[in-house]
Amino acid sequence: MNVSVIGTGYVGLVTGTVFADLGNEVICVDNDKKKIDMLKAGEMPIYEPGLQEMALKSVEDGRLSFTTSVAKGVRDSKVIFIAVGTPPKPNGESDLSAVEAVAREIALNINDYKIIVNKSTVPVGTGNFVRNIIEKFKRADHDFDVVSNPEFLKEGSAIADCLYPERIVIGVPNHHVAMALLELYAPVERPMLITDVESAELIKYASNAFLATKISFINFIANICEKAGADVTLVAKGMGYDSRIGAHFLQAGLGFGGSCFPKDTLSLLCTARKYKEDASLLETVIELNEDRVPRFVRRISSEMKPLRDKVVGVLGLAFKPNTDDLRDAKSLEIIKHLLKARAIVRVYDPVAMENARPLLKDVKLCKNAYDLARGADALVVVTEWNEFKLLNLEKLRQNMRGSYLFDGRNIYSKERAERAGFKYICIGKR
Ligand code: NAD
Repeated sequence: MNVSVIGTGYVGLVTGTVFADLGNEVICVDNDKKKIDMLKAGEMPIYEPGLQEMALKSVEDGRLSFTTSVAKGVRDSKVIFIAVGTPPKPNGESDLSAVEAVAREIALNINDYKIIVNKSTVPVGTGNFVRNIIEKFKRADHDFDVVSNPEFLKEGSAIADCLYPERIVIGVPNHHVAMALLELYAPVERPMLITDVESAELIKYASNAFLATKISFINFIANICEKAGADVTLVAKGMGYDSRIGAHFLQAGLGFGGSCFPKDTLSLLCTARKYKEDASLLETVIELNEDRVPRFVRRISSEMKPLRDKVVGVLGLAFKPNTDDLRDAKSLEIIKHLLKARAIVRVYDPVAMENARPLLKDVKLCKNAYDLARGADALVVVTEWNEFKLLNLEKLRQNMRGSYLFDGRNIYSKERAERAGFKYICIGKR
């Protein structure tokens, strides 16, 4: 099938690459010329395991190409995916300006029947919004359908998530367009759910908000554990064995960050308010999340007081392991607090250093974890990279001036850290 993907970011590039790998002719479009130039030169603008090899192979085989021209993408494809960003506006609602801009360009270039698929995470009702824009601006009288096909991939395992998704949700306005999408997705042989457009749009927000709720819930339990002398890791384990609860997303820590959970939870909250529904459940989820970093920093400060002039090494910058994405990363929030308390901050991340460079002016970027530890009074684990789990803690400790290890992700055991000479403080246990 001839497919174009407009918006070649974390979702669009992976989606386009996987569709090409499955044998489709794919054009990836982006209005960021630098990104497209990099891709044309065989370089990936994002870090995603397995992406480069897969993309280069399809480029070589002539199934995957890159352009800045939306017109080309629209004219040469039957199925057009919209995968542009939908960041939060200051009031928390999703900013649909990129979706709107793309819909207008599609309208201006429509030259045949087209299937326009919203893969961006968009509030319920956006399918109609896109449909109306195209109707209003289209120059020729061609028919089209607007479909919702929310994306559930996770950065860090995006290729596998696209090749073996747990479910494919396709929200359609009619049977005919459902058949076309089923055909496109048939090679992945995974469960497919056909719904109306509105339900598909809402499935994405409901899923992310539910997972965010699980995270805030276990963090709420962690707060109690810290006061009551219980161990949140054991509590979560005991809960997770119950198949009605499940063990996933029950890791207490610094809360949810990244480019999806915070903005999607907020957007659903705005949707609930728009329909005049009580949104206090989500308000609490967000409030609990927003207190994670201040609470952790309060703990660091009360142990090390004063923080002023203390050297603190931050282990991990990416919002989660196996990605270079720093959007809404907890590291940035922690660093801001530490700098405000006049600490001297050093940082290290296995892959996010380049993205961090322009964002972090007053901190020292280190070569590796051992370099980070040199002369530090404290280390703070912010991202649970496997590389950090395997560190030689004795060597790390020997490089330091002080002995504090604040583990915001509970990746070490107290015994192991104390054996290495650390004063170990983690989440949800004394
Ligand atoms: P991103 O910022 O990485 O990519 C968006 C791309 O769209 C950018 O490269 C940008 O240059 C391009 N773009 C913006 N306006 C454009 C225009 N008018 N024409 C052409 N290109 C344009 O964003 P992302 O992380 O890939 O997210 C895209 C959407 O997918 C969002 O709605 C997000 O919520 C959703 N989503 C993201 C993830 C994730 O893990 N990142 C997972 C599931 C869903």
